[in-house]
Amino acid sequence: MLTIHPKGESATRRRAPRPTAVSRIMLVIALTGGIGAGKTTVSERFAELGVPVIDSDLLAREQVQPGSAGLEEIIRRFGPEVLASSGELDRDRLRRLIFRDPAAKKHLEAILHPRIRAQMQRRISEIDSPYIVLAIPLLVENAQMDLADRVLVVDAPEEFQIERVCHRDRQSIEEVRAILRTQSSRAERLGVADDLITNDGSLRKLLDDTTALHHHYMSLARDKKDI
Ligand code: ATP
Repeated sequence: MLTIHPKGESATRRRAPRPTAVSRIMLVIALTGGIGAGKTTVSERFAELGVPVIDSDLLAREQVQPGSAGLEEIIRRFGPEVLASSGELDRDRLRRLIFRDPAAKKHLEAILHPRIRAQMQRRISEIDSPYIVLAIPLLVENAQMDLADRVLVVDAPEEFQIERVCHRDRQSIEEVRAILRTQSSRAERLGVADDLITNDGSLRKLLDDTTALHHHYMSLARDKKDI
């Protein structure tokens, strides 16, 4: 099922003003969803349709490249043991360090989030397109809804998420369940959705739903430009 919320005003607008709205002219769509919900498949479809996609995970990696200010700060806070022998950040080790330490997690986020956000805004300002997609898996967890005009949630029943991720990554059901427990609930995500793709059918259907939404966004983008 593809749902386009019928209300003229987006949920994002209804929630709160967006003091840091990134683009006044270009329509900005934030794409999110739980693990294995189908976000990458949807992002890739938008890209195939010629829509610029900015991936927050890729931006996060850029912020911790060897020699970057972000990595220097992480080393200052967590020590050089977070580095692999190659000099790159050992992301698994860092993840384990913050797993049971909420203060350390907060500190890491304080280092990374403003940098990712600034880089995202810089990229957006360089793009000329009717609309763009920001792929932000942890949008709700990190309360970044204000970055976009609309929030698109890709949602799937939990059993589908587990089955797909186990199949793709050879992870155990328990491992995937553990990740799901650290993420926002489906209800929390649906609560901020302006647009919803329910990925409970075939891949073909997922791609077709994304294409239909693309046409909708092109029309919204035209309206926004005319305002
Ligand atoms: P992650 O959060 O782990 O990055 P994701 O939300 O980006 O996952 P995808 O990578 O798009 O999700 O999809 C997860 C896996 O499920 C992929 O292997 C994808 O090909 C497959 N998949 C997604 N949707 C469907 C579907 N409707 N039918 C069959 N397979 C699907």
